[in-house]
Amino acid sequence: AVHEVARLPPASRQSVLMAEADQHMPQGVAENYRFWGQKRTVFVKTSKGCRFTDVDGKEFVDFRLGYGPIILGYRDERVDRVVCEQIMERGTLSGFSSGLDSEVARQIKGLCPQIEKIRFANSGTEAVMGALRTARGFTKRNRIATVEGSFHGLYDEMMWRTDLDNWDYDGKTEPHIIPAGGGIPPVSRDLMDIIVLNDFEKLEDLFKVRGDSLAAVILEPIIGNAGSISASQEWLQRLRDLCTENGTMLVIDEVKSGFRVAKGGAQELYGIYGDLTTYAKAIGNGYPVACFGGRRDVMDAIGSHQGGVVHGGTYSANMIAVSAAHATLKVLAETDANKTIDRVGQQLMDMLGRVFEEAGVENHFAGPPAMFGMHFGPNVPTNYRHWRTTRSGLYQCFAWQLIDLGVMLEPDCREPWFICESHQDVDLAWLEDTCRIAMKRALE
Ligand code: PLP
Repeated sequence: AVHEVARLPPASRQSVLMAEADQHMPQGVAENYRFWGQKRTVFVKTSKGCRFTDVDGKEFVDFRLGYGPIILGYRDERVDRVVCEQIMERGTLSGFSSGLDSEVARQIKGLCPQIEKIRFANSGTEAVMGALRTARGFTKRNRIATVEGSFHGLYDEMMWRTDLDNWDYDGKTEPHIIPAGGGIPPVSRDLMDIIVLNDFEKLEDLFKVRGDSLAAVILEPIIGNAGSISASQEWLQRLRDLCTENGTMLVIDEVKSGFRVAKGGAQELYGIYGDLTTYAKAIGNGYPVACFGGRRDVMDAIGSHQGGVVHGGTYSANMIAVSAAHATLKVLAETDANKTIDRVGQQLMDMLGRVFEEAGVENHFAGPPAMFGMHFGPNVPTNYRHWRTTRSGLYQCFAWQLIDLGVMLEPDCREPWFICESHQDVDLAWLEDTCRIAMKRALE
């Protein structure tokens, strides 16, 4: 028996940490989306550039990038030095203004012409809450519409979904609307509508029925939570026009796309602008910072005047957040980081396309190179319903094989491949071989 014990593989550090974490946190994780099963939940030891090493010493080239915030690379000195100096020499939080907050606002306005005034938050969820309350306060209306397949954080009202699992796609009936999980009160559904991306009829119907009660339509024009399937130029323009005609605020959620798909985000690519915009993720290269902003008259609904919109937060524009944003935005504004990201992303899409063609797998890419989605099937999906007809199971097998081989991505193809500036160091020939092996294994 002693010999047998000796022959057992040593417990991985992952399994030890997972067993410990299970004692202290639901599912053993700090937030739901990190749970990948008992054996597969990842524990990270260190990260640098576009790579991280897990607690068992395995190195990954990372295309998941913490769901998108890393735009330059992990532990980028141009950002981290500034933040460390701030912490060690000037402090992290005072509950007062610093001047650096308005400096960051000025930087954002320099990159995003639709922004006239800004308020800070700590997460995308909070930015969305702030933007929607501001839209309601400004319009003095209550209803909000979202787009099927989009994700706008964990705010109760944003957690309603169409139940496509129990819908027969006959086109005659509409799916039921259900909460994403427990704890979401039915009352939070009462003011919500869900429309379908690129569907003109549903868009026109929405405004016909709700036009004068609709405070806002919120959407990701490039759905970073549905494989980067994107609004057509014409559909987004029609939405913009209908919002303008009806006095409805168009809220563009750039939490994933902002400062990533172009310096000025998705709105720069389309040349179509929201009344309000939310930003988070790439704005701070991994530090927790977010904001929302837009038209001066709309943002000026916020304030302590009679009937003013309440917006606040102990940690809003704390010095870690704003120094990180200041340093990150400076790099993005003054260098070709976005161009590098686009170039590398395009090379990757070309390479992956070659691998899939060779393997005889029909494939399509969606979205821009900095945040592209990959879909197995005969067409680029045009909306989330359509996406559900793609071969997401094959994608999942391919992803798990890649993860085994040291390439990290989300196994769920609703999450795009995120590119950061440091990916320019990746050996593309190695990556191509690795993808070829992964695809071969996935098809076996
Ligand atoms: N909006 C979009 C488009 C997102 O992708 C996310 C998160 O992925 C959020 C909002 C919520 O951001 P956070 O996780 O920082 O609360």
